[in-house]
Amino acid sequence: MQKQRLAILGATGSIGRQTIDVVLAHSDLFSVELLSANSSWKELADLSVKVNAGTAIITDDRFCDSLKSELENTDIKAYAGENALISELSNSNIDTVVVGISGFAGLRPTLAAIKAGKKIALANKETLVVGGDLVIPMSKQYSAPIIPVDSEHSAIFQCLAGEHSPLEKLIITASGGALRDVPIEKLKDATPAQVLNHPSWDMGPRVTVDSATMLNKGFEIIEAHHLFSAPWDKIDVVIHPESIIHSMVEFEDGAVKAQLGIPDMRIPIQYALSFPYRQKMHNSKRYNPITPLTFREVDFRRYPCLKLAYECMKEGGSSTVVLNAAGEIAVKRFLSGEIPYTGISQVIENVLNGIATEKITNFDNIFEIDRIAREMATR
Ligand code: MG
Repeated sequence: MQKQRLAILGATGSIGRQTIDVVLAHSDLFSVELLSANSSWKELADLSVKVNAGTAIITDDRFCDSLKSELENTDIKAYAGENALISELSNSNIDTVVVGISGFAGLRPTLAAIKAGKKIALANKETLVVGGDLVIPMSKQYSAPIIPVDSEHSAIFQCLAGEHSPLEKLIITASGGALRDVPIEKLKDATPAQVLNHPSWDMGPRVTVDSATMLNKGFEIIEAHHLFSAPWDKIDVVIHPESIIHSMVEFEDGAVKAQLGIPDMRIPIQYALSFPYRQKMHNSKRYNPITPLTFREVDFRRYPCLKLAYECMKEGGSSTVVLNAAGEIAVKRFLSGEIPYTGISQVIENVLNGIATEKITNFDNIFEIDRIAREMATR
């Protein structure tokens, strides 16, 4: 494998930190050209020194001076602002861009990386959830392959490697989230603290709430729809509390392939970077086949957000933009104590009902609908 030079966006977040672990474990294979973070300037500076990055960028420019003075006595270049990030991404010293930024903020930098023809290791959901109709053709046009980092999509990607026949069905697994065993009538009383205690994955706060409501799974079915050209009625979700099977693919002859492993995000991150090869994974527990694997059907009364996501995937167009924007605001309002847990799906449903679906023809459409949906969700 040729040495790869990486840009890691969202370096101080959960995906970013675990990507850095992978990079440090394989310094013969990977080097870091650029690290970015939104506001954690001190951590960004420390990580940049640790990986000997060429450039560090803080996108919230209020922290420009703090970052610069922290890196003063190093030869790491420090910049601030989203525009600086976007222009640095076309740097010819970067081979692969790891997009670990969460939320809508990941969209513009990902587009810039695609236009620069970089390989994209994609962990940001919004890029495909809101922009899939435009992003997939663009990635072909600019020869910028998108390799999924999310465990489920990585699993499907691994199952499809070497296959030449069309898939019959995607079976995406879900842990069921922190509230999977809480009686449905008690969900309205669920607190942020209860929700943030996720049973199997270590993730950021928004993804953890989205995992409890399965809105996250809803985003994943929409991403899978775009990444693997799978129609909405060929994507199933099954609850698998052990999070050992990361997803499955059924083929037309009835054969089903599944990808298994202990839940450790470094595995799909490393695979996205090293594909089509595999590399040694150090300090990782290994799957023991004696572990019983169990499955449950999804009850949409417990997970109304997943049902809304199916409806949006079927409807297409701007509905997935609204789903994402309303979801992000609804989760914020839940975490700040403003609405109950069951209010999350209600806010999303109200906003979906309030905005007519239209075809997405360009990125300005997306940003405009996103803004309208956020305003409505805040009200
Ligand atoms: Mg996932």
